[in-house]
Amino acid sequence: MTLDRLHAARAVAGELGIDLLVLTPGADLRYLCGYAAHAMERLTALAVPRRGEPFLVVPRLEAPMVDAGPAGTLGLEVLAWDETDDAFAVLAGASVSRLGAAPARVAVGSRTWAEHALGVQRALPGAALELASPVVDRLRMVKTPAEVEELARAGAAIDRVHARMGEWLTVGRTEAEVGADVAAAILAEGHVAVDFTIVGSGPNGASPHHELSDRVVEAGDLVVVDIGGETSTGYRSDCTRTYVVGGRPDAEVAEWYAVLHAAQQAATAAVRPGVPAEEIDAAARSVITGAGWGGYFIHRTGHGIGLDSHEAPYIVAGNGLPLEPGMAFSVEPGIYLPGRHGARIEDIVVCTDDGVRVLNNGPRELVELPG
Ligand code: ZN
Ligand code: ZN
Repeated sequence: MTLDRLHAARAVAGELGIDLLVLTPGADLRYLCGYAAHAMERLTALAVPRRGEPFLVVPRLEAPMVDAGPAGTLGLEVLAWDETDDAFAVLAGASVSRLGAAPARVAVGSRTWAEHALGVQRALPGAALELASPVVDRLRMVKTPAEVEELARAGAAIDRVHARMGEWLTVGRTEAEVGADVAAAILAEGHVAVDFTIVGSGPNGASPHHELSDRVVEAGDLVVVDIGGETSTGYRSDCTRTYVVGGRPDAEVAEWYAVLHAAQQAATAAVRPGVPAEEIDAAARSVITGAGWGGYFIHRTGHGIGLDSHEAPYIVAGNGLPLEPGMAFSVEPGIYLPGRHGARIEDIVVCTDDGVRVLNNGPRELVELPG
């Protein structure tokens, strides 16, 4: 960890005319200064004024954790506040003294808790608050080679979980039972936390964000399994495969699944520098729409991934952002037939200097499990 990211954030904020960035626990804080703090009601904040050095405001009881972690090696000033102090006044006072005046534009993290954003507003009543995403997203979106390797490590770990799915996903078990085993495997295969386990069997597969239920898996069910977790360095995995358990897909399923597979391949193949994000969505959608299933593809094609499992860039119509080498995101078209079943194929991909690198490499065909 170095001060480079903080200084880059300060430079971008300056370019955009933002006087002060205030970032609270979450991916922005971890990205910029290496501090993986947990969010709670006591204020922890990284302040990046456009002039002077950034500093951390932390509850006194957590100051030892800052010193012990990567942020402790940066030489950042740490302002520890006591339980009866006004932490927002501490933040405001140190910011004004660095800036030489009260800030006019203050940008807060997009996932900063409202009580903290409003506390900043109260302590700096003359400031206009806005989101820090134009600053931090610009930096976080483009991964360094080391970050790409962390995402590749996460991807390989989740691939190993999918490869073992036949151990748990069997006829007669509930989605919840399957999900509990899958969650344990996500940890066993190299993650420190489970972000989500979606096991959508039969009709539940038609609800893209269905998680788990007590529905019992039946012979011949299609089952959408979308799983992801967090590795020790904070980088995320996210991969979907669709299984058919204890039976074979019927002709209609085989037909539309082939369309879905072709759409996922077309979108992946379209990834290269300079292509607008929305064109990746269009590449998948045009295949599915062209085959007559467009009404059943009810979500965007993908989302960025890094220290958050959903972050910029979003792969969606209307996002004209040109792809750059280092951008990492999901390609995850789906087809969902309400009341019947659904399927999704999801890989994490990275835009390279001349094309694409795919970080999930398990089979994308309908995976037949014996049940
Ligand atoms: Zn997913
Ligand atoms: Zn996803």
